[in-house]
Amino acid sequence: MTKVAFIGLGRMGRGMAGRYLEAGFELAVWNRSKSKAEDLIARGARWASSPADAADAAAAVVTMVADDEASRAVWLGKDGAVSSASTGTIAIECSTVSYDHALALAAELRHRGLICIDCPVTGLPDAAASGKLTLLVGAEPADLERARPFLAPLSTTIRHFGAVGTGTVYKLINNLMGAIQIAGIAEGLAIAEQAGLDMKLVLEAIETGVAASPQVIRHSRRMAARDFAGASFTAALRHKDAAYAVALAERLLSGVPLMGRAAVEAYARAKAYAPDEDEGKIIEMVSRSKGAA
Ligand code: NAP
Repeated sequence: MTKVAFIGLGRMGRGMAGRYLEAGFELAVWNRSKSKAEDLIARGARWASSPADAADAAAAVVTMVADDEASRAVWLGKDGAVSSASTGTIAIECSTVSYDHALALAAELRHRGLICIDCPVTGLPDAAASGKLTLLVGAEPADLERARPFLAPLSTTIRHFGAVGTGTVYKLINNLMGAIQIAGIAEGLAIAEQAGLDMKLVLEAIETGVAASPQVIRHSRRMAARDFAGASFTAALRHKDAAYAVALAERLLSGVPLMGRAAVEAYARAKAYAPDEDEGKIIEMVSRSKGAA
């Protein structure tokens, strides 16, 4: 059986790792906190004592961790995956990281003889667990072909944007636009509430009007109801993604007054308020009422 190492078993990674078991791969898993691996171990995954142990003799190493710091730690830190991965191992970084990190990591992994692609994803944890993510790939075409057997369990939709780093650029603009939209929903709903509008009617009008987008439809009703149960994407992750995107924008669009900066500031406040709760909770930062819908 072909061996895959999966590192990072948070909301997304647990479901993604499970897809490799379902597809018949031999799976080794590692996560900073072992408790999140229990269900996968019960289903047949091998618990690895470190990222290096997971990557030992693996044909592919897939990582899905929080941010640049976590990615650096699991690949390049003490007992990082790179220290045991063999030449020709396929390295698939699925975490949302900064553009600079995506490039630096790829350069380092290639230097060590690995084949590297950046492969951030869109889709929520339920899509991760059911193999319905969209993969946003940056890779040399030949490297993508080698990686395809290891991408197939995760998704049927692969968008190849170009060389390594381009998948990350797209992911960052996608999530920056999301941050601006969600901060905008919070402000719009808060104004409507404060002005005493019938919120049932407001929501109906939003969902069927020109301002609606999948993001707006996903969040507006829950935000108006202050229903933040079952967070799938947290304020801390949204802030991280928007901040990485604005850092890139500041280089590519220098001198432009970026509205992304306002979204980063809004999400910095939301992160300080409730880092691990649903990103929609940002409405509590601008609203003066407790919600009316
Ligand atoms: P999560 O539930 O918060 O999980 C984060 C993972 O990163 C956990 O496995 C955590 O380990 C690990 N981690 C954090 N800091 C670490 C460190 N310093 N060293 C080693 N491991 C570390 O996040 P998630 O929702 O699964 O998101 C994972 C990635 O996918 C993020 O880059 C996120 O932006 C992206 N993403 C998320 C979604 C979504 O809907 N949630 C959708 C698309 C993309 P512990 O378990 O020990 O804390």
